[in-house]
Order: sequence, then structure tokens, then C-alpha cells
Amino acid sequence: MKLEDLELGPRFHARLVGNEALTPPGTRAEVRELTLELIEEGFTFSIGQSVAVLLAGPHDFGQSHHVRLYSIASTPDEAGPGRITICVRRCHYVDPYSGERYRGIASNHLCDLPVGSELLLAGPVGLPFVIPEDPATPLLMVGLGTGVAPFRALLRYLFEERGGWQGKVRLFHGARVGLESVYRERIADYQSQASGFEAVEVLSSRPAWDDPADLSAAIVRHEAEVWALLEDPAVHVYIAGLTPVAEAFEEALAGLAGSREAWARRKADLVADGRWMELLY
Ligand SMILES: Cc1cc2nc3c(=O)[nH]c(=O)nc-3n(C[C@H](O)[C@H](O)[C@H](O)COP(=O)(O)OP(=O)(O)OC[C@H]3O[C@@H](n4cnc5c(N)ncnc54)[C@H](O)[C@@H]3O)c2cc1C
Repeated sequence: MKLEDLELGPRFHARLVGNEALTPPGTRAEVRELTLELIEEGFTFSIGQSVAVLLAGPHDFGQSHHVRLYSIASTPDEAGPGRITICVRRCHYVDPYSGERYRGIASNHLCDLPVGSELLLAGPVGLPFVIPEDPATPLLMVGLGTGVAPFRALLRYLFEERGGWQGKVRLFHGARVGLESVYRERIADYQSQASGFEAVEVLSSRPAWDDPADLSAAIVRHEAEVWALLEDPAVHVYIAGLTPVAEAFEEALAGLAGSREAWARRKADLVADGRWMELLY
């Protein structure tokens, strides 16, 4: 679906109250955590939803606002309904013909925005993650790069706010190199505190060649466990982040299932049961 076809919901003004680097200086992929305080009341959201940032023009293609979506990385109860956190990766675009490098409009604006600035937001956008009632339910999550943002919220909900989750929780997260891996320490803390939780950090097998994190290899390394999870009749699967990562995930699962057709049947069951959640871009 095209962005212009999305129902963005009501508009809200927000003030930026925090803008902190999640990656150390000098890393190729800069990701920042922005905390926004809603000025008007009435913005409500659920885990797994996104917020739209609307930047007023003039813009190159004559649109009144440049609109981009960001996954909400905080829970509704974390700092009250009036505060949300997003993670923004500074994006650039290299023109394939001229080789010229352009700055992504919204991501650079947000990364460079001084605390105290105001923004126009809309939302929430997208479907919430379905979180099962039964705390014995196994959960499989995949969120590489900024795709980990909604899992910051989901893990916080499971292990800090709700508590008592007994089902296995597996998260595949990571980036090209460890320094670019977002929320690494926070994830490691949950891993040391929550017995059923295990995180697999996925990195590039050829970082010097600029290859992305190798999710397929990581799935193959953990294939017995991943397949056992997918065979569990209650498992809930959540995948967030860049579409090519989701494609690599599904390709790896087709390998585990024996064929693309066998995987398509398994996935269709998960989708039909509402146990397959995607937040892709
Ligand atoms: C549901 C959803 C959730 C998302 N969640 C997150 C998140 O949590 N964190 C995150 O960082 N991102 C997230 N994104 C991505 C985000 O919405 C933006 O797409 C991203 O930040 C880039 O936007 P931008 O305005 O910086 O770049 P843009 O200005 O949109 O530029 C990027 C693209 O625009 C084109 N382009 C840019 N400049 C030029 C130019 N000068 N000439 C020609 N073409 C050009 C290219 O196609 C390029 O790939 C999400 C997206 C979706 C749909």
C-alpha cells in the first residue's frame, strides 16, 4: 500500500524532549532515539503501531508535507500516554545514475532536531501486535536494525510491565556490525533476568564488503529450535524492519520447511490464526 493511501488518523503536535545517539560516533549506520511529548491530549496507541511525522514544505514534488512513519518503541504505560519514543536511522539515497548522495528528508531532519523543537504527528498507524493472553505462549521475534524498535516495547511489556511470562521468547536482532546493533545492552539485561528469553545477535558475515546482517545463516544455525517453535500450535511470530530482511527470513524458513510451498502452507495457517504479525518497510 502506498503511503498516500494510508489512513493517518488525527494530527497532534509534539515537543522533542530527548534526542540521543544509540550508536557510537563514527559508525556508518547512525541511529538515534527520540522522545516526543504530545502537546494535545488524546493520542492513544498499542504496541506494534507507528506514528507519522509530517514535515511542512515546500518540497521538491509540490506536496504540502513530507510524511514518513516511525515504529513506536515505547509502551503506552511506560511514560504515560503523552510520551512516545521512536528510533530513527539517518538515511541517505545514492542516485544510481549520477552517483550523487542525497540526504533522506525526514530522517535527517529528526536526527538533527534540537530538543525543544515542535513536530506535527499523526496516528497511530498500522495494526497493533496481537499479544496472547496465555503467558505460556512461545513468541518468535525478528527485528534487525531499526526493526528492533517495536520489540523494545514488546520486551518491556512482557518482562517489566506484565511479568511472569513463562513461554519461550526468541529474538533475532542485530546489524552489519555489533557497534551498529541497537538496544544491545537492554536486550542483554533481559536475557540475564528472564529465564525463557534468548536473543540471537545477527551480524554480517562480510562486514568489510558492506554486506547486511546475515539472517539466513543465523536461522540455519538455530534451525532445530526455530522449527520447533514454528511447529508449536500456539506460537506467535512477529517480524519488523526492512522488507529484504523479511524476505531473507522467509527464504530461510522455506529451506527448513523443505520447500516454498510447504512454508507457504505453514505461514497461511499462522496468518489465518492471527499469529503472524508484520511491520515492514
Ligand atoms: C510502518 C513503517 C515503520 C517504520 N519505522 C521506522 C523506524 O522505526 N525507524 C526508521 O528509521 N525508519 C522507519 N521507517 C522508514 C521511514 O518511514 C523512512 O522511510 C526513512 O526514515 C527514510 O525517510 P526520509 O524522509 O529520511 O528519506 P526520503 O527523503 O524518503 O529518502 C529516501 C528515499 O527517497 C528517494 N530520494 C531521496 N532523496 C532523493 C533525491 N534527492 N532524489 C531522488 N530520490 C530521492 C529514494 O527513493 C530514497 O530511498 C518506517 C517505515 C514504515 C512504512
